[in-house]
Amino acid sequence: SRSNEPLIHHWMPFTANKQFHDAPRIIARAEGVHYWNTAGEKLLDSVSGLYTTPAGHGRREIRDAVARQLEELDYAPAFQFGVPGSFRLATELAQMLPAGLNRVFFAGSGSEAVESALKVAIQYHRVRGQGQRQRIIGRARGYHGVNFGGWSVGGMVKNREAFGLGLPGVAHMRHTHIPENRFQMGQGEHGGVDLADDLQRMIDLYGADTIAACIVEPIAGSTGVLVPPKGYLERLREICTKHGILLIFDEVICGFGRTGAPFAADAFGVVPDMLTMAKAITNGNIPMAAVAVREDVQQAILDAAGPEAVEFFHGYTYSAHPVACAAALATLKIFREDDLFARGAALAPKFLERIAALRDVPIVIDTRGFGLLGAVDLAPEGGPGKRGFAVLRRAFEQGLVLRVAGDTVIFAPLFITTDDQLDEMFDKLRKVLATV
Ligand code: PMP
Repeated sequence: SRSNEPLIHHWMPFTANKQFHDAPRIIARAEGVHYWNTAGEKLLDSVSGLYTTPAGHGRREIRDAVARQLEELDYAPAFQFGVPGSFRLATELAQMLPAGLNRVFFAGSGSEAVESALKVAIQYHRVRGQGQRQRIIGRARGYHGVNFGGWSVGGMVKNREAFGLGLPGVAHMRHTHIPENRFQMGQGEHGGVDLADDLQRMIDLYGADTIAACIVEPIAGSTGVLVPPKGYLERLREICTKHGILLIFDEVICGFGRTGAPFAADAFGVVPDMLTMAKAITNGNIPMAAVAVREDVQQAILDAAGPEAVEFFHGYTYSAHPVACAAALATLKIFREDDLFARGAALAPKFLERIAALRDVPIVIDTRGFGLLGAVDLAPEGGPGKRGFAVLRRAFEQGLVLRVAGDTVIFAPLFITTDDQLDEMFDKLRKVLATV
């Protein structure tokens, strides 16, 4: 009973709920913080696209930069050529990133950036005579994309089970959300240290000389905004440094001002050895991603590449795509000129207050947030995810676009959201929560 025959040919991304597929909702236009559907109805975007579009939909500066780039140079393969924009962009990113993370490899998606980081980690150890270091340590409820490396190190058990063996030698630490400490998360002085010691336990079990890298999202985004308790990331850093394990921060969601700082690494004061980014790098306008690598890590790999032997074969057809570079450069210019990270940071306290205030709603069992990233856990009703999905659907009917993960509602407002629009967002959500 498909309502619209021509839609059946588009195999849409799979989500937990088949109803999306059976009755897709079509977005036809977007501008600022709003979408419009094909019926011309206006919807408030409270997720910045998919954490992609903090600067607002329909930015003309990006459109113009893309058009100019297409006229000048539409494509040149990164396997053979450089393009001016890719060098400029890498330099600008290196200047934004924590010191030392200044070698930037470009990819086309967050999943590709993660794959790249994992391969770099293994290769780095190999060229230093430690080829047995191949294990990657991930974390429960981590999300690192849908490619084989990403789901293997990711912590969504159902995703892993669905596809079989995946990457060998992966182990998963506990996630950073402690359900028995509801409303207390991150308050304890030492809670984070004990959690991070999972990494030490894995080192004790497998041996540090089998482990290449540890990958975490500083704040796990897609699986419900799991803000790390105090001391957690610092402790991971300490353990990785002590044992020669590369620490990878996946900042595909957290990067580019989402936490109030340029990167979560800045917000938490912990510098990883590699940092993946995507989404907001082009304001979501053109697919692009990158992994920033510690200078000496990249240099070790470069130095090992002899003229005869290709030591490290890696790269994508769309690596450093000129049009994506142009879109990213235009986006970074908007971030600077509109002082957007500061604008987001200024909005964050009010946003976090509104999130926390939802605790007075009877069906709300927990709330969390950091910067402009927030989550509201609902008491399940009628089976896992049912209530979350009902909220998503009813909010949409009320003109509000949300994200849900199971029974957790996730917010990631655009940085240009006004106070009034923030009020509208939460007023609408409250109304919806009263009906489910
Ligand atoms: N890593 C993280 C932390 C993500 O949130 C995502 C996507 N939400 C990815 C990787 C995968 O990115 P993509 O969908 O662009 O492949």
